[in-house]
Amino acid sequence: MTKQKVALISGITGQDGGYLAKFLLGKGYKVVGLYRRGATDTFSRLKEHGIFEQIELADFDLLEFSNICRLMRKYQPDEFYNLAAQSFVGASWEEPIYTAQADGMGVLYILEAIREFSPHTRLYQASTSEMFGKVQEIPQKETTPFYPRSPYGVAKLMAHWMVTNYRESFGVHASSGILFNHESPMRGKEFVTRKITAHLAQMVTGKTDKPLELGNLSAKRDWGFAGDYVEMMWLMLQQEKPDTYVVATGETHSIREFVEEAGKVCGYDIEWKGEGVDEIGIDKKSGKTIVKVNPKFYRPAEVELLIGDPSKAEKILGWHRKVDYKGLCRMMMEKDIERAENGTL
Ligand code: NDP
Ligand code: GDP
Repeated sequence: MTKQKVALISGITGQDGGYLAKFLLGKGYKVVGLYRRGATDTFSRLKEHGIFEQIELADFDLLEFSNICRLMRKYQPDEFYNLAAQSFVGASWEEPIYTAQADGMGVLYILEAIREFSPHTRLYQASTSEMFGKVQEIPQKETTPFYPRSPYGVAKLMAHWMVTNYRESFGVHASSGILFNHESPMRGKEFVTRKITAHLAQMVTGKTDKPLELGNLSAKRDWGFAGDYVEMMWLMLQQEKPDTYVVATGETHSIREFVEEAGKVCGYDIEWKGEGVDEIGIDKKSGKTIVKVNPKFYRPAEVELLIGDPSKAEKILGWHRKVDYKGLCRMMMEKDIERAENGTL
């Protein structure tokens, strides 16, 4: 009988943590979920996935090096998926120092702990398309130069290069997935897609009359489905050689387009009037204002366009996404309408 593989997942309470844990449990792994102790219950996603009982939990904080060392010594895991991060770009201007410590230094702590206590452990690092920032090439691929536009992007870039460096210096089996935005019904409500679907769900079920307030409507993102993307993380760690891969759909859409698509699922036919801060999105049928702009949600520096080229991942890892942009939008919208109806939104 082959030995059961052990995977440690940091960021187990987040969007990707839940999808990845479910995927690995399906593959027969023992999953140890690393979480930060807090005063409130943060396991709602794992409960909604129906996998909470199957996960062993362990305390973890990206800033606590001694704890990371102990975890590595105790579990000697086959695989470590580092999904933990201060993951919200918007917050990184408010908390730049913490973001740099958690998203940059935290990854160095993990690499050091692997090097010292569990050198056979294979590491997946959650890199991000935000590292491309002010894009130097369209579409963005593994060889595109980086130009991060936020403290989040800069911190993640440090981690990204540390992963490459530990691979080259010490032979650590560490891979980076440069994942483009990926969403799901489990996405945090501060991110724009979920903010849109959660608000429209409240509107269409009559729970609110207030228009949705957004920032830059023209920014474009390459949005995929989180459930598809976690498979890629696992595939990277099954390769003989660690590497860097872009994971994306190769399609890009503006925030405006996402609003329109989500609106369609609700029965709205949204048209845009005005410009800049005066722009509004109106439902043609009812004349109701669905969206307005609030400059509060503008960013000090914006990433205007992201579109990735996933051909390396598709070729080497044999990966293809199952959910497309419209399917993703519908899935998120329908789930939030269901939640709004049963009072769980
Ligand atoms: P989430 O924001 O949903 O989850 C982040 C997780 O990190 C949470 O479990 C959170 O715990 C944990 N965390 C935050 N700070 C710390 C800390 N100091 N110590 C320990 N744990 C911490 O993110 P996603 O699941 O969407 O993303 C997963 C990873 O992928 C992140 O690293 C993110 O930056 C990266 N990424 C995400 C993309 C996306 O589009 N989703 C795109 C590219 C990269 P708690 O519940 O306690 O807050
Ligand atoms: P990001 O790509 O990781 O920053 O993911 P987000 O979902 O937070 O933001 C995606 C894009 O949506 C960015 O260009 C934001 O400027 C834009 N955006 C416009 N309005 C909003 C808003 O109200 N909230 C958020 N989070 N983003 C917004």
